[in-house]
Amino acid sequence: MTAAAHPTRFAVDVYRGRLQRAAAEAASRDVGALLITPSTDYAYLLGYAAPGFERLTCLVLSADGRASLVVPRLEEPLARHELGELAGDLAIIPWDETEDPFWVVRDLLDAGVMRAAVQDQMWARFVLRLRAALDPIELVEAGPSLAALRRIKSAEEIDRLRAAARAADEAMDRIRGTRFSGRTEREVSLEIRDLLLAAGHESADFAIVASGPNSASPHHDPGDRVIEAGDALVLDIGGFRAGYGSDTTRTVFVGDPPSEFSELYAVLHEAQAAACTAIRPGVAAQEIDRAARGVIAAAGFGASFIHRTGHGIGMETHEEPYIVEGNADPLLPGDAFSIEPGIYLAGRWGARIEDIAICTDDGGEILNQSSRELLVVE
Ligand code: ZN
Ligand code: ZN
Ligand code: ZN
Repeated sequence: MTAAAHPTRFAVDVYRGRLQRAAAEAASRDVGALLITPSTDYAYLLGYAAPGFERLTCLVLSADGRASLVVPRLEEPLARHELGELAGDLAIIPWDETEDPFWVVRDLLDAGVMRAAVQDQMWARFVLRLRAALDPIELVEAGPSLAALRRIKSAEEIDRLRAAARAADEAMDRIRGTRFSGRTEREVSLEIRDLLLAAGHESADFAIVASGPNSASPHHDPGDRVIEAGDALVLDIGGFRAGYGSDTTRTVFVGDPPSEFSELYAVLHEAQAAACTAIRPGVAAQEIDRAARGVIAAAGFGASFIHRTGHGIGMETHEEPYIVEGNADPLLPGDAFSIEPGIYLAGRWGARIEDIAICTDDGGEILNQSSRELLVVE
């Protein structure tokens, strides 16, 4: 295992720390063991993305910190190779084709375990077979234990998010310098994906190009519509760079915008800035949503802001914390999330501005730096 072969991996002590903290989170929730099948949680804890197949691969992490990896025997060499030095910290338990791996898991649990937590995206067939093998142990969701860790980004993770944001900014600036009218949404979307890759992303996961009336649909799928003068254009782009996500939205106008649109945009711009400046530790996530929504509602567009203000981001594009009414959880230093209010008038046009923000020790850091002004394009 070399650094070059695994450019997205952190030092082995990072994963040792994560395993210990995950075990402590489980203990604090009266969960005797976390059962983690291949997923982002698995990659977060062990530093590699194991293949998710019909044969069970499962990290069994006891609340006391002991970690075992149940793997199909044919995948043991791959697991050892990918784990590298971390393999020495785990009991690696290969199972043979004729064995029942769910009973292997059962045998790893202490007699006193009353509750085990399963990874949120575990296949139903695994959950059901585990439930049968582990009976009467109660199965609960592992999500809360893992989210408590994953939402708080380390300095190294924030560096990755910052680099991803800057790369997305570069792609955004370049696409905004091109000519739009006469091209289809799909053509522009494909060019954005190329720009994201050229800026250092390993994957360009989405490039929403929503023109004219389509801009009123927040998750519009770019199609054959030809962009023309008089169109509002919402560009929402992102992907992954060194394992961490980018996600940024800018709105441009093809030709001079009518005053009605400029006024709508000014409200949106003010709302987005209000949410960004409200960020500091201890503030409830819903207060950030209220900061944006208040400005939009006061201008009479309250019913036209039809989604939450933001979502957490990290190894996944959408994760905790969610910036939404009803989430009273206080923001914590290290939280990373989007601030993306929008105003959408069905049949006419829409606008959205999205940046990724970090909650710091004393406020917020906005990672995206490309212009938020309403740019006029050709
Ligand atoms: Zn979205
Ligand atoms: Zn977005
Ligand atoms: Zn987003």
